[in-house]
This record gives sequence, C-alpha cells and structure tokens, in this order.
Amino acid sequence: MGDVEEELEKLRAEIEKCRRCSLHKGRTKPVLGEGPAPAEIMLVGEAPGYWEDQQGKPFVGAAGRFLNELLALAGLKRSQVYITNVVKCRPPKNRDPKPEEEEACAPYLERQLSLLKPRLICTLGSHATARILSFFGLKPQPITKIHGKVFKAQSLLGGILIVPLFHPASALYKPPMKSLQFEDWKTVGRLLSET
Ligand code: SF4
Repeated sequence: MGDVEEELEKLRAEIEKCRRCSLHKGRTKPVLGEGPAPAEIMLVGEAPGYWEDQQGKPFVGAAGRFLNELLALAGLKRSQVYITNVVKCRPPKNRDPKPEEEEACAPYLERQLSLLKPRLICTLGSHATARILSFFGLKPQPITKIHGKVFKAQSLLGGILIVPLFHPASALYKPPMKSLQFEDWKTVGRLLSET
C-alpha cells in the first residue's frame, strides 16, 4: 500500500468514528470515497444516499449507474476517477446537507484534495460546486449558469481545472436533464483529449 492509500485509510478510520455533526446519528456506513490514489481526476458529489449508506461506497444506486454512462461519454471508466462527496454521512430522507454539516465535514474533503492532488475536479450538483469553487478562491455561481464550463484555479500544487456538472440524480427525476448532462460530459471528454 502506498503512502497516499495509507493516509486515506487513516482518514476512513477517523470518519467511522466521527461525530462532528448530527448526521452520524442516522448513518449505517460513512462513505469516504473510492478510486485511484493519487488521482488525476476527482468527482465530488453532495452526500451518500440509501444504497451508498448501506454499502459504504459512493454512487452505487441508480444515480451511480447513470454516472457510469456519463463517464463513458467522456471516454472514462469508473476505475480512472476518484469519487467522493461533500458530506460523508447520509442525510435523513436524502435531504440536502445543511451548511453547518458541510462545514463540519469540510476538513475531510480538504485532506482528500491534498492527498489525491487531482488536476481536474468535476463537481456534481450545486452543493459540491459551491464548496469546491469557494475552496479554490472562485466565486460560487448557480449551477444552471455555469454547468459544463471550465474554470481554472491555482492551488499550492499548481494549476487545477474545475468543471461544474449537474448531479446525475437530477436526470432520474427530470428526464429532459439527460441531454444537458450528455452535452456537459462530452465537454469533459473534449477537455481531456486536449490536455
Ligand atoms: S457528515 Fe462528516 S462531519 Fe458529519 S458525522 Fe459524518 S463524517 Fe463527521
């Protein structure tokens, strides 16, 4: 096991015991994330849902299957990307995470970013987009305005690209969202072929 993987395992152990916010009360399994470490490409979603909470893995339900389709449009396999969420424990009834829960969980996401050192971050949904843009000193904007656009930011480790995307689950509830998501993920594919 490499150093980064070892550090991630330590983080996983911390999260399993974490009680920094009230979401620990209803969780079955916290979801740290999974994927290559270090990771060139990182996907950040909002929060675990029912199946993620049951299995302790990110994006394993219907939204996860749709995410696999979207990744394929960008020429990517799931094994090539590291996937995590803004909060690591499932909110009750899949409600949105509250600002104080996101704040409490932010240090874990920040440690993941510094360990994994991604060159490209795709944010999935409005919560992840606002969190990641702010983290890199960029102004948060509505996801409806900036989805599929490419933002450049500087980190301590050099330049990083950020592409805000809709959350895959949004297309499951609103099928017309599918074509928008297909176009955005093709943009990701073009970006990867250029860089
Ligand atoms: S959501 Fe994050 S901060 Fe809250 S209990 Fe779970 S791991 Fe801890």
